[in-house]
Amino acid sequence: MEARHVKLTRLNKNIPDCPDLPPPGEIESKTKGCTSHPSSFLSLNQISLEDGGPSSTDSNNTVRIFTDGTNNTEIFHRTIKLSNHNTVFQADITALKEAILHSSLNHAQELVSFYMDNKASVLAIANPKSTSATAREIFDLLHNHTNFKISWIKAHVNYPGNERADELAKAATTTGSPLNIPYPISNIKSVLRRKMVSDWQHLWTNSSTGKKIRKIIPKVSLHSAAWNRELTIFMTEHGPFPQNLKRFRLSNTENCNCGAVGSPIYYATICPFTISWHMSQPTKANALEWRKRIIANKGSRQRITSIIQFMHQNNELFKPLH
Ligand SMILES: [Zn+2]
Repeated sequence: MEARHVKLTRLNKNIPDCPDLPPPGEIESKTKGCTSHPSSFLSLNQISLEDGGPSSTDSNNTVRIFTDGTNNTEIFHRTIKLSNHNTVFQADITALKEAILHSSLNHAQELVSFYMDNKASVLAIANPKSTSATAREIFDLLHNHTNFKISWIKAHVNYPGNERADELAKAATTTGSPLNIPYPISNIKSVLRRKMVSDWQHLWTNSSTGKKIRKIIPKVSLHSAAWNRELTIFMTEHGPFPQNLKRFRLSNTENCNCGAVGSPIYYATICPFTISWHMSQPTKANALEWRKRIIANKGSRQRITSIIQFMHQNNELFKPLH
């Protein structure tokens, strides 16, 4: 939220009218620092990254809970549904937190094992510096219940409990009771990014200027095109080319000193003054493809760079004859 505000303030624009955005106040804030004093970090045997499935060392009286489902006798199950703005990670750890809360009320004195098939989520919970507030709550809950244990379990290996949890999770997308948890900032950023790129694309596609470049780069992108100054001059034709100078009334003629019309392509292919860097000529029909190939080829880009630099350093030579 903060980032969005800062960005928009810098652009001096109002927050865009974007129906995909949740109202302010529903954004998850990141937590910093450590969950608890390092001396109270969980002993490693409470969180396990080894497959807790077939080789499980749980004793028989252990209550086994598969998030977001049930223990193997299905004493309890609860399904919840999150918004599309929430991530899989949020769903995972929210389910786990709910299961731990349930257990702390109903199985407080028993040995309880929680199984999750998402390693990333198990790792996040084991990380005392996790930025997720929910992961930290789980960390604290485990700290208060040393009889609770979290294990990773391989997905899709037919552990009945996990299969059932999967099934319930799928059902929850339609029948689960909605649970509002704050949306992660990453989600808001991607909603805004998509909106920004689509607005930009619209402007670019419908712009009355920049036709030449639009043909070469029809789609806007957040990745830099990485054109150097010389390549930009060549492709936009805004440079020391007699043809261009005439168009802008900076010269009376569009001819090069050699006598022919001085267009960018002419310098890249024919003009005797730039012969050291010549490339094969495009036909009229494939001029666009020819430009795209130059952009894609390092050697060609280097030739263009040399030509433009040479023209700048020797501009007297290229000054059109009057
Ligand atoms: Zn010439």
